Amino acid sequence: MLISKTAMIRWNGFTRKWYEEKGYKWTKVNELFECKIEDVQINSTVKVEAKCDYCGEIFYPEYRRLLNARELINKDCCSNRLCMGLKSKEVNLQIYGVEYYTQLESFRERSRKMQQTPFEKVLQDFKDKNLILLSKESDYQNDRSRLFLFVLYIKMLESKKLIMQILKRIKVVVIMVKENYVRNPVDLMEV
Ligand SMILES: [Zn+2]
Repeated sequence: MLISKTAMIRWNGFTRKWYEEKGYKWTKVNELFECKIEDVQINSTVKVEAKCDYCGEIFYPEYRRLLNARELINKDCCSNRLCMGLKSKEVNLQIYGVEYYTQLESFRERSRKMQQTPFEKVLQDFKDKNLILLSKESDYQNDRSRLFLFVLYIKMLESKKLIMQILKRIKVVVIMVKENYVRNPVDLMEV
């Protein structure tokens, strides 16, 4: 909560017009005048007196900082860690609908998991094409995970084509063809 009703502002050439239009009488550069708080420019760095809306302590922020900090939650917060934590909870709730950023991360992780091709489906795709997947389920984090597979009983010419199809679908980036490690589809084409 803003306590100051007025602030002492120094005259200068840049802000002279603003304050004169509000009815203040110019004296000279650098001279102080008392200005009603509602007339102070919103980007002013003048220090004002405020009361923390969380702990009740008095603090002295720059006026523009005080206003900026109200952008999402219209409450004033001192620099105490506990108060800042309380306010950031409220800000997160407002922006993301959760209190902590980590909750947001786990929510994102869950929805990512739901959108990606299920591991069982990946396994089945490989199996259908006579390819053996060597990676474990835990290696499969997302559709860009590097998966190892082993090619079985397929002529090289055919396997290239099949692997290219799978690559397109699941974006396997590391493939083991017999004894050779193939780093990407381009390498594979030259095997
Ligand atoms: Zn506080």
